[in-house]
Amino acid sequence: MRTKLIAGNWKMNGSKPMVRELIAGILSRLDAGQSSDVMVLPPYPYVPLANSLLENTPVLLGAQDLSRHDSGAHTGEVAGSMLSDVGCSHVLVGHSERRNLYGEDNALVAAKFAAAQAAGLQPILCVGETLEERQAGQTDSVVRAQVDAVLSSSGVAAFSRAIVAYEPVWAIGTGQSATPDQAQSVHAMIRAHLAEEDAIIAGRLRILYGGSVKPDNAAELLEREDIDGGLIGGASLSADGFMAIYQAAG
Ligand code: PEP
Repeated sequence: MRTKLIAGNWKMNGSKPMVRELIAGILSRLDAGQSSDVMVLPPYPYVPLANSLLENTPVLLGAQDLSRHDSGAHTGEVAGSMLSDVGCSHVLVGHSERRNLYGEDNALVAAKFAAAQAAGLQPILCVGETLEERQAGQTDSVVRAQVDAVLSSSGVAAFSRAIVAYEPVWAIGTGQSATPDQAQSVHAMIRAHLAEEDAIIAGRLRILYGGSVKPDNAAELLEREDIDGGLIGGASLSADGFMAIYQAAG
């Protein structure tokens, strides 16, 4: 049985008052009757504030990116060990905005995945195809290649300490979510692909869906067999909307 996870990627949004208000709203809507885990992923400067507000709560804390390097002459970069030090347990790697706007390729994403685990963080590996790739019938091969880059450098055992997020690029921030059938099909493909290496690890792996998840489409996505939660962008900026998705997850 995989516990669902609802994770809020705040992207480059926030201020100290917003962080306080959003976290207070999330904490006030936690429900002991719900089994899902909740995570927030604020921008770097707000991680320490979020960490202090989340102390002694079940809400998990992650960052949106990390450096592939451990320390040293890499101005502007943030190491995984620093994220652990300020309270993160998780970190996104390979979000499509990093891949598409900042030129991160599969090799760099795989290096960041390994750097996260070396720092004791659980990476959330983001994968997904563009609209052109979907229309060309390349969805499965593109996503498989993104997973394979990590498989070949870190091995299947690394997926026992990681999460995967399927985020079709065309669905992120567009209001056009994948249908439950489209998402389920890619999630099942990812799980089956990893099961060829290790069925137990694949069976336990949490695979989140991300891309225009909103309170009104969350339930139909989250009820599908291989959809183990959501990576939520826009809707995570309102405690009401985000926690309505958490309620829909059960
Ligand atoms: C995201 O940023 O990972 C995301 C899924 O965004 P949105 O929910 O806004 O599509």
